Amino acid sequence: MKNAKAYSAASATAPLAFDTIQRRETTERDVAIDILYCGICHSDLHQVRDEWNSVMPTVYPCVPGHEIVGRVIQVGADVTSFKPGDLVGVGCMVDSDHDCPSCNNHVEQFCADVTFTYNSPDKHGAGPVTYGGYSESIVVDKDFVLKVPDNLELSGVAPLLCAGITTYSPIRRWGDIKGKKVGVVGLGGLGHMGVKFAKALGAHVVVFTTSPHKKEDALRLGADEVIISTDPEQMQAHAFSFDFILDTIAADHDVNAYLGMLTLDGEMTLVGAPETPLQVSAFALLFGRKKLSGSLIGGIKETQEMLDFCGEHNITSDVEVIPIQQVNEAYERLVKSDVKYRFSIDMASLKQE
Ligand code: NAP
Ligand code: ZN
Repeated sequence: MKNAKAYSAASATAPLAFDTIQRRETTERDVAIDILYCGICHSDLHQVRDEWNSVMPTVYPCVPGHEIVGRVIQVGADVTSFKPGDLVGVGCMVDSDHDCPSCNNHVEQFCADVTFTYNSPDKHGAGPVTYGGYSESIVVDKDFVLKVPDNLELSGVAPLLCAGITTYSPIRRWGDIKGKKVGVVGLGGLGHMGVKFAKALGAHVVVFTTSPHKKEDALRLGADEVIISTDPEQMQAHAFSFDFILDTIAADHDVNAYLGMLTLDGEMTLVGAPETPLQVSAFALLFGRKKLSGSLIGGIKETQEMLDFCGEHNITSDVEVIPIQQVNEAYERLVKSDVKYRFSIDMASLKQE
């Protein structure tokens, strides 16, 4: 085992603070990575504060972070696709059973034995659970390491590993959205990536936001129109007109209001994960034969496809780069929907601790 500097939370109410964790020695299948940047996902906050207790209770200390970009420092004997010095990414998963129908169908996120990047039982025993990217280094099974295109700015690449794939995957799965009217609900980390991908794929993109001051940014990011969702008149003007809506809201909200925006046979996909159950009106689905679905990140193959797409189209996340010492402040701003549009931690700041 090797010591690694990290930031962890000791309980659901404790702030994140400096800690020293253990990383395993590099086994023959492993890639050891020096972490350069790690994005702050709202899921990190849900998990640190144990808001998902009923589904995924948090084990403390908790080291969050699953939007990792870094440089390979060491590889095991069986690793042929990576070498020291390579730029790589790691998202929400670090291992699986490699051999079930989900893994064979490239949707490892649904493997019964998937190991998430943090708060999953650690089968190598470096800790009771896995520890994520708010750390100087990480050791990951080679099948869960992604290649990062070399033309992109790295602080903005980190968020692609979760916010990027989580929005890219459902948009691609919906079908050909070229010329379709696509709504993105919530302009935060996921939402702003959803806007970029939908635009790059040729959709007519409409942002629903509760924050009127985000209108200019939404248009700059690629939206064709912006609806202030708290204004009933603006909502009414777009009723029954959307082919597809991606809902990224992190808190409880009225999904029926957005289902009412869909056209006949339209679909709304939830990617936001509020801590409390949402209320769905049957009538909101019956009238118009509408579909309500969910989506969880994306498989490794599709994540690589997304990164390559970003390399080709020069897409990165719009980030506010912060030192890790400001992480608690960033969490407070995240709760207030005050982020433009993802925090990315410059991990060099951890060296001074
Ligand atoms: P975020 O940056 O905080 O953005 C969420 C946005 O939702 C906010 O910026 C805000 O946008 C809107 N919002 C927040 N509270 C709201 C409320 N009470 N009513 C209406 N709108 C509200 O969060 P994120 O990192 O994008 O994550 C969003 C959600 O997705 C989280 O629940 C996270 O856990 C989940 N997630 C799911 C997956 C998956 O695989 N399915 C992956 C990653 C994250 P406006 O200011 O524009 O209204
Ligand atoms: Zn995430």
